Amino acid sequence: MRFESRSIDKRSVPQDTLTGALNNRTGTLTDSTNVDSNLRETTASQAGAIRIDLPDWIPRFLASVTTPLADDRERMAWVLDLARENIRAGTGGPFGAALFAADSGRLIAVGVNRVVPAHCSIAHAEMVAIATAQQRLGHYDLRQALPGGSILYSSAEPCAMCLGALPWSGIDRLVYAASDADVRAIGFDEGDKPSDWISGYARRGIQVTAELLREEAADLLRGYAANGGEIYDPTATDHGDS
Ligand SMILES: [Zn+2]
Repeated sequence: MRFESRSIDKRSVPQDTLTGALNNRTGTLTDSTNVDSNLRETTASQAGAIRIDLPDWIPRFLASVTTPLADDRERMAWVLDLARENIRAGTGGPFGAALFAADSGRLIAVGVNRVVPAHCSIAHAEMVAIATAQQRLGHYDLRQALPGGSILYSSAEPCAMCLGALPWSGIDRLVYAASDADVRAIGFDEGDKPSDWISGYARRGIQVTAELLREEAADLLRGYAANGGEIYDPTATDHGDS
């Protein structure tokens, strides 16, 4: 996703050389995965009115997918790797997300937390993933863009902001790993959330699978905090945001 807060930027963005070479050399390799064929080329290539760039390593990370991410566990394990890479590369907070088409199983978009580098409090992994998917597909409603349904995988339970935003994205299902308590335990502020939000989602036709690979995700968060990862703090008190 590329939003631009100044004038529209028409510069072309150089394709990641590794991804480009891989695609040119072995088109079948790309086709043998369930990564949507245009995703690797279009990541971080759009211009708009507000700007949030995905990190430079994303195309390389996508190129590393060599077999289909077939089920919930495989997809979530990959999303946790995505969050881990965002930490390792120092390109944002310890959170990742990915949107898959429910019927075809195609990977449509990815997101990582970019709040600090993008100077943008809404740049949570879930928001980046759904906005990237919507802009790639050319529709604000994923139910229109993906009539077969869509599934959002997130490395952590949504915060109050994402919780409010996701029903307007048109997703049909949410799968998350670390719990709200796991995120709060390392110092992030998740906001005020209704305790029965999963029931509320069900009433809106959004199915939730909670705490898949929770322990692995919680370990990742604890490791981030233990290594001095930034718990950013928009209110200059003792709490931040995820
Ligand atoms: Zn959030």
